[in-house]
Amino acid sequence: MRKRVLESIEKKLLKKRDQLLETIEAEEENEREGVESENITGDIVDEANSSYEQLVISRLTEKEQEKLNEIDEALSRLNEGMYGRCVVCGKSIDEKRLLAIPEAKKCIECKAAEEKRRY
Ligand SMILES: [Zn+2]
Repeated sequence: MRKRVLESIEKKLLKKRDQLLETIEAEEENEREGVESENITGDIVDEANSSYEQLVISRLTEKEQEKLNEIDEALSRLNEGMYGRCVVCGKSIDEKRLLAIPEAKKCIECKAAEEKRRY
């Protein structure tokens, strides 16, 4: 893969990483604030409702953590010069696919096969 393409992919990954970290931090902040306001207005807030909200928030964060891991993995593959290869079949992943989803680690065929298995 061309160096220029790799560099722009690395930039994209780093930017995505920053945004994710910001989102995760903001959500954790919300969660803390939620707990605090719950203490103040304890008897007004419906308890079942608020714990459901917390569950949704922590699930959202979990998903973002997962994404963050994928981005970190992609960045370390970039550093090792392994970037752009499908982890399943070892073929080069289409450049357009990588530019659209820079953290992709499977080629489109393997991804499609995986989704077929899942559903
Ligand atoms: Zn593959």
